[in-house]
Amino acid sequence: MLLLPDFVGLYFESMSLLSLQKMRFCVGVIVPILLGIGGVAAAQNQGIASPGNNGQALVGATIIDGSGRPPIENATLYIRNGRIEAVGKRVKLPAGVQRIDANGKTIIPGLISAHSHVNDASQFGIYLRDGVTTILSLGGNKEFALRDQAAKAPPGTAPHLYVAGPIQDSTAIPGAVAVKDPEGARKSVDELTDNKPDIVKLRVDDFLGARAKMSPDVYAAIIDEARKNGFRTAAHIVLLDDAKGVLRAGVDYIAHSVRDREVDAEFIGLMKARHVFYCPTFTREVAIFAYSETPAFFSDPFFLKEADSAEIAKMADPKHQETVRNDSAAQWYKQQFPVAMHNLKAVSDAGIDIVMGTDSGGGPGRFQGYFEHLELEYETKAGLTPMQALVSATSAPAKLLHISDRTGTLEKGKWADFVILSANPLDDIRNTRKIDSVWIGGVRVPAKQ
Ligand SMILES: [Zn+2]
Repeated sequence: MLLLPDFVGLYFESMSLLSLQKMRFCVGVIVPILLGIGGVAAAQNQGIASPGNNGQALVGATIIDGSGRPPIENATLYIRNGRIEAVGKRVKLPAGVQRIDANGKTIIPGLISAHSHVNDASQFGIYLRDGVTTILSLGGNKEFALRDQAAKAPPGTAPHLYVAGPIQDSTAIPGAVAVKDPEGARKSVDELTDNKPDIVKLRVDDFLGARAKMSPDVYAAIIDEARKNGFRTAAHIVLLDDAKGVLRAGVDYIAHSVRDREVDAEFIGLMKARHVFYCPTFTREVAIFAYSETPAFFSDPFFLKEADSAEIAKMADPKHQETVRNDSAAQWYKQQFPVAMHNLKAVSDAGIDIVMGTDSGGGPGRFQGYFEHLELEYETKAGLTPMQALVSATSAPAKLLHISDRTGTLEKGKWADFVILSANPLDDIRNTRKIDSVWIGGVRVPAKQ
């Protein structure tokens, strides 16, 4: 039997991680919705839980829990108070649970992107409706404010947002701060870490000779100062030698593919020695060279559902496409793409944790939400299995973000963040786009307005 005070108590217990503002919203809006205004009195009078008061159960689904374990067929996912209460073949449901038929559906954890860029709160819904429930936004000037906005947003309207804040770079390009010497780097990191970034991002890239590259003494100072302050570091690199340099300096996360050469045993050894994560961001490359023509995905209805039409028009403009065709940098990235693909497979085969990331939102034509699905497809083109691709977008990035106790897999006690698909992504990874509904914290994400 479920008594009202217990229910309310449990509900607030589950809210303890959330901000006060969110809690106020919950008190005012969610609790009455969950209970039903009239249901409060009825439940108090009769001591009976009406359907839905005791959570919801998705029954009959194929469940891929994100751990890499085989799927569970004909299974139940029972959620209550924003969390997963039980998952498996033989889940005993108490009274008052709303049963939702999920026969023929596949349920996967909410996707986690370990490298995207959220630039505005208006983009929260795009990611969410496309099934991306957790994001590491890896560098930008507005990220700390956006993280606050996401935390305060009404349930079901914002992803769990983790951020790097301004990128430590050699040049003050948008989203970055310039650090010129080790002393300046330490000062810059001290200022940055006052805002408690979820990771410190640095960029080691001369843009194929177009500008100065951060020197090893500067990035060593950034990585060292971050660690002294209790923070981990993520590096943007392009070249194998720079990747090895930041690894020797103690970086925790290689946030792009190595693109100039095939990775070697030394690189693999450095990655494994300190359990460093690797993110290929193939779709970042695609966004640089693919708009030399109109890409096939421009006619994908799933793409068109969320993609900004002005941005589509820009990328489809013949003048822009001609510029891309004649751009030597774009052509270099295109030529090196097979190297990046090879390197993902090599790094994965070596047992290094791969995390899905796209750089979506980080430049022109990098379509948020859609690119996360396209990235999974490229991961499988590079030789990962659909299951490995799913792990790279669920449990692996949760490990990177140190949030495995909260999300990344469909297991008891974790946030009820999941995507219901109408087809199984293990049959074809592109089935992650066949979204029936998206849930975050047990709340169904509303359709596009
Ligand atoms: Zn980026």
